[in-house]
Amino acid sequence: MASIIGSTIQRRRIVVQGIVQGVGFRPFVYNQALRWGLVGFVLNDSLGVTIEVEGTPETLDGFQSALHEETPPLAHIDSIVTELVPPHQESAFIIAHSQAGAERHALISPDSTTCEDCLHELFDPEDRRYHYPFINCTNCGPRFTIVQDVPYDRTKTTMRVFPMCPDCQAEYEDPLNRRFHAQPNACPACGPQVRLLDWTSKGNLYPPSTDPIAAAAQRLASGAILAIKGLGGYHLACDALNSEAVRRLRQRKQREAKPFALMVPDLEAARRLCQVSNAEAALLQSRRRPIVLLSQHPDCPVAPGVAPAYTTLGIMLPYTPLHHLLLSAFAEIIEPGRAVTLVMTSGNLSDEPIAYQDDDAQVRLATIAEGVLTHNRDIHMRCDDSVMRVVAGGEQFFRRSRGFAPEPIRLSFDFPVPLLACGSHLKNTFCLCKGQQAFVSHHIGDLENLETLTSFREGIEHFQRLFDIYPEAVAYDLHPEYLATKYALDTDISQKIGVQHHHAHIASVLAEHGLDGPVIGVAADGTGYGTDGAIWGCEIMAADLLGFERLAHLGYVPLPGGEQAVRQPWRMAACYLAQAFGDDFLELDIPFVRTLDRSKWRILAQMTARNINSPPTSSLGRLFDAVAALVGLRSEVLYEGQAAIELEMLAQQQERDTCQGQSGIYPFTIKMRDQMPARLDVAPMLRAIVSDIQQGVPTSLIASRFHCSIAELLTTACLEAREQTKLNIVALSGGVFQNRLLLEQLIARLEEMAFQVYVNRHVPPNDGGISLGQAAVAGARLVRTEM
Ligand SMILES: [Zn+2]
Ligand SMILES: [Zn+2]
Repeated sequence: MASIIGSTIQRRRIVVQGIVQGVGFRPFVYNQALRWGLVGFVLNDSLGVTIEVEGTPETLDGFQSALHEETPPLAHIDSIVTELVPPHQESAFIIAHSQAGAERHALISPDSTTCEDCLHELFDPEDRRYHYPFINCTNCGPRFTIVQDVPYDRTKTTMRVFPMCPDCQAEYEDPLNRRFHAQPNACPACGPQVRLLDWTSKGNLYPPSTDPIAAAAQRLASGAILAIKGLGGYHLACDALNSEAVRRLRQRKQREAKPFALMVPDLEAARRLCQVSNAEAALLQSRRRPIVLLSQHPDCPVAPGVAPAYTTLGIMLPYTPLHHLLLSAFAEIIEPGRAVTLVMTSGNLSDEPIAYQDDDAQVRLATIAEGVLTHNRDIHMRCDDSVMRVVAGGEQFFRRSRGFAPEPIRLSFDFPVPLLACGSHLKNTFCLCKGQQAFVSHHIGDLENLETLTSFREGIEHFQRLFDIYPEAVAYDLHPEYLATKYALDTDISQKIGVQHHHAHIASVLAEHGLDGPVIGVAADGTGYGTDGAIWGCEIMAADLLGFERLAHLGYVPLPGGEQAVRQPWRMAACYLAQAFGDDFLELDIPFVRTLDRSKWRILAQMTARNINSPPTSSLGRLFDAVAALVGLRSEVLYEGQAAIELEMLAQQQERDTCQGQSGIYPFTIKMRDQMPARLDVAPMLRAIVSDIQQGVPTSLIASRFHCSIAELLTTACLEAREQTKLNIVALSGGVFQNRLLLEQLIARLEEMAFQVYVNRHVPPNDGGISLGQAAVAGARLVRTEM
């Protein structure tokens, strides 16, 4: 009998790859092995996790399905490879010592919000970590932002300076403990400490006997602005209901218009300020904890200065123990019934990158904040909050960063060689690729100053080390002046692959959804360098990953003064009127023309006539600017897209059915076929808008009709493109599709016309998604060359 039973004993070697280190995977495996009565071992190695288990085929199968189905919360399995090996007949299952290896396939987890178990301990007076602001375990806490090198181990994180106390060490070594090999494990006896400091005197801002977090809450409640050190950088915080504090913050931060993000204690608190759907609630409460854009209630109590002219608010829930403690202390101090809401905006001045190093934060933020709630755990990698919203039945990124980076996006093909994609100029991310994986970086920012450029270079070096990707090919945007492009062209990587900006936008959608194309691509944004040297921005193309054919675009108008035209939408309005009416537009009896500075216009007209610094543009973003200026919303803006966003907010005041029937749609013409690429002519639209203005049609109705008309224009262009190409799949991308009204109307119209529509769900439609698109295009071209 023994020999028969013996013959049914199997031993399997199982190699698991993905995010499986530092996320409680080995204790999970250990417990499963005990549960199924198996012997063998588990260990971390350079590939990820290697398991050898021995038992009957039935118990081994049970064990393996548990691996798939009961994975710990932060673990993410990319692949499991199993082979049979000879049985060893050990007596137990053990967690063996990690092996260092030549290759580094193990992945670093993104930072993750405090888990339920840790939260429970945090507020349990009996627990030894009661009110300890750095509580964490293998299921939660800092990861990417504290990792300095691989393999992921405490000595290679910024926790290395905190030797564990015996209690913590015992947890760390106990395979059955939730903190087994939790690298950031700490407690009040051995871990980082929080302090509330006066930056000028470097002294404590509170009597030594007081809890610094309670003291910080007290300060905030009395109207102070504080800098608060978080996971990926510093926030600037104040009471969001205190108009005076909000105003002071805005003035000192030199951020005159962009909205501030808010932090509220829980879902219920978010619902007091905004409408929150189930999908939005799930996103708010997810362990990634992004800022979620939500529609404000009409009687929302936050100070109007938080998000001037916006009907939305960006809200997040607490994601570190320190946040939880701060909000709960704040709630105890303020008057009962008052909304518990803190402004938590990036710790920076104007357009600079977020401060994350203590000395630098002091230099840059001391003039803004009246004190700092800080701590002595260093942040190694800057990582801004992610920003998302729910739109058209799914999630959309505005910024993909903390909580997501550096998790890779899996593509449908293998990169033949390691590749770097340098991304775009604004909202830069870069992307490093190997195998099927594309590691899109955290948000780097606008590559317009030395500090951001440094962070771009250092970020690339860090990712190369962490993921062992040393690129042999580099992809870049065609714009010769982009710093990311210059970086690519200056590297000694031999294979350099230029990718057109809007092709990259469309390719980012294809890459995310595993599509090869061809599809009809609709790319709509502010600025992108075209193959004809013009500034493109409303492009209908037939595209696959390898290339594209430009089928149609918005008719060119001059972009007088380049960047100046972005800052001064009146320039675009004047150029569009001049195109629609000729010089007679100066006779039009509408407020925009009556107040137009004639001398400024003459200079502009001369510039465009002589073609001085007035490149032709097909930018849809600029058309939105022009219409916003024309209806009197704004002749100058403080940041790109401000006028367009206000136009969208205005249009939302109208009922959604404004567009029903043709009466709501402004006219336009499309001349396909007789001209390639075809031109989408909006001069008739401009004339109709002027006529509406003359007839006193309410501005919100004009704004609404304009949105419907652009949706109709793009739908018609897609219908023409389908005629021409027989393609039925449409991919939408580009920053203009952050306009929810336009995106939802366009998708609805396209689906009515039986198109299959794809949008970005895993990277932003704005330039933050460009690096992924570049990577996909370059990768596809490399694959083709191989064949
Ligand atoms: Zn935890
Ligand atoms: Zn300890």
